[in-house]
Amino acid sequence: MFEHDALDIEQRASTGALPPRSRVDRLVSEAYERYASVDDGAVADYIPVLAAADASHFGLSVVSVGGSLHEAGDVDIPFSIQSISKAFVFALVCEELGHEAVHERVGVNNTGLAFNSLIAMELNGGSPMNPMVNAGAIATTALVGASSAEERWARVQRGLSRFAGRELSLDEDVYLSESRTNLRNRAIGKLLQSYGRLDPDPLETVDVYTRQCSLAVTAHDLAVMGATLADGGVNPVTGEQVVSAEVCRDTLAVLASCGMYERSGEWLFEIGLPAKSGVSGGIVAVAPGKGAVGAYSPRLDTAGNSVRGQRACAHLSRSLGLNLFASVRGGTSETSEPEESHG
Ligand code: GLN
Repeated sequence: MFEHDALDIEQRASTGALPPRSRVDRLVSEAYERYASVDDGAVADYIPVLAAADASHFGLSVVSVGGSLHEAGDVDIPFSIQSISKAFVFALVCEELGHEAVHERVGVNNTGLAFNSLIAMELNGGSPMNPMVNAGAIATTALVGASSAEERWARVQRGLSRFAGRELSLDEDVYLSESRTNLRNRAIGKLLQSYGRLDPDPLETVDVYTRQCSLAVTAHDLAVMGATLADGGVNPVTGEQVVSAEVCRDTLAVLASCGMYERSGEWLFEIGLPAKSGVSGGIVAVAPGKGAVGAYSPRLDTAGNSVRGQRACAHLSRSLGLNLFASVRGGTSETSEPEESHG
């Protein structure tokens, strides 16, 4: 699916800054043009309203840690954030509870199974495994400190809005459609409760989770949200410190291992960036210290990842030099130390 050999792109090291602005503009337009005509994959329909998405929409946005924008296509079309919300709710909970607590309560290992698997929990003694699959995400939402479901929802909505740098609102149609059909997620909530993994009411917690998945965002918003994680927790557009740099580090580690579901290994191998996707067709890919890519295109592969979004991210990772694992010979091996004085 990824056309390495066909791409005539010089491999760049991951260190340093993004290329100059005009070059980033050109490479974003090039990635857009290159994949605009791809129509592989299918729009998700297990949440009925998602089947009505316009499959032709395709938007690519790159936001740098300096706040510069590089965009092509449908970057202002709203869609529900879906599973991408998991990354940012996890960051908010890490900020609140810290590294150890989330490690212990939720876990950080890939399941190797689909995002809505119940078997993954059964095979692992009731552990929700990681915050990027539904079980772990529902367990994570339950950890947002609040005395009621309404307060929990308000905190999630406010927190995600700070990442986006604008007030995010609920897509009511998506929320109602998913609420009517989310029997699996309700089962996951009950199973978590049966294993003593969920303190608040399971159905109320699943309802907050369903709302967080129904927040409307654009490809541009995703890039700003991702760039906040790339920038030590400071939103590069508003300048607000949303979470700490340590929380960004922990969140990106989990995105690298689990963000693209059971395809996370393949994604890391091909693209080399922490990323998160959602079933409505969004992807956010984060280049620490540089910026982030937000992509939107509703047709998905069988794991639930946007086909055009993945291809465009692969292209941009290579052309912009974002792959975290890429190095080139000729770097400086040590930082210089002041000469010892002998006298
Ligand atoms: N709200 C969706 C669900 O729970 C999110 C899944 C996804 O984007 N992969 O099924």
